[in-house]
Amino acid sequence: MNGNIPLQDIRSLNEEQLSEWVVALNEKKFRVKQIFEHLWKHNTASFDEMNNLPLSLRDALKKDFSFHKLSIIDKQTSKDGSLKYAFQLSDNQIIETVLIPSNRRSTVCVSSQVGCGLACQFCATAHLGYKRNLQAYEMFEQIFIANEESKLLFGYPITNIVWMGMGEPLLNYEHVVACIHYVSSPKGLGMSKSRITLSTSGITEGIRRLADDDIKIHLALSLHSAHNEQRSTLMPINKTKPLSEVANALMYYHQKTKLRISIEYLLLESVNDSLEHARMLARFCKQFPVKINLIEYNTHPYSNFKPSNTKQTIAFMDYLKSKNLIVTLRQSKGKDIAAACGQLANQTGMDSK
Ligand code: SF4
Repeated sequence: MNGNIPLQDIRSLNEEQLSEWVVALNEKKFRVKQIFEHLWKHNTASFDEMNNLPLSLRDALKKDFSFHKLSIIDKQTSKDGSLKYAFQLSDNQIIETVLIPSNRRSTVCVSSQVGCGLACQFCATAHLGYKRNLQAYEMFEQIFIANEESKLLFGYPITNIVWMGMGEPLLNYEHVVACIHYVSSPKGLGMSKSRITLSTSGITEGIRRLADDDIKIHLALSLHSAHNEQRSTLMPINKTKPLSEVANALMYYHQKTKLRISIEYLLLESVNDSLEHARMLARFCKQFPVKINLIEYNTHPYSNFKPSNTKQTIAFMDYLKSKNLIVTLRQSKGKDIAAACGQLANQTGMDSK
């Protein structure tokens, strides 16, 4: 603390800024790598723990910086083994993160914003509104803690990271990309980018930027309707980013990365689950290589939608398969603790996509 103003979290410096700070102290360059590894490999919680640094350097760090750590304020376990964590941030805001085990896999679903301003009709996060973007270190810590929990509870580390929690990650581009760097760098967690998926509502500039910046992660589009006008009703972002523009951006992403795009489609009873909707979806998906994830809708108090019934779901899926599309039906995990897709709304046991 400097008077009443909290010191800057050291993790808000990028590697270049950290290097400049170290060099300005006339310290050796290799100290940068040591500090970097403390921050992004070990998630070190205090400067005192950096015991391979000289005391003078630790004191200088303490004078200029601090750590704004996340604290777990609630943890709920679903009957299916998924866990939902509520984290309190240094400004008392609350976010949620989900850890999902399945068949030797362990997936962490990361939040990128506090709340979300995009007002998708089916999403519980939308009712919170947008509060702020998360810092790279606030997303990194969600992943780091989930990784430690996975090792402890399941006996193996996380295998996959999905940016599908609260918020639109491409509206927090710099911090999300910085976090991906820390997670994938050999000096950080060293995870392969092929294990990372970012889900977007269709932020076209962000999709193109990810392609141009050669980030090479998997991209998922939260589509939910291939009918442009209907999609604008379900997801207001579609009014400014219509499906034709989203498709062009996805084509660009595929051309640059050669990666298949995932299409996420919630099945909502009598809304988007007719065979005509399946036909529109198939047409949309013929524009670039995709795999389609049909998602069972989870009810929550913030919307009146209902999940499609089994007969309709099978008919919808069969139609897509008859068009030679790759389709899987995802039954969301963590329904009983409001951790499933679209249910994250800071309703913890204490009451905090
Ligand atoms: S679905 Fe995603 S983009 Fe839409 S309101 Fe929810 S968190 Fe935001």
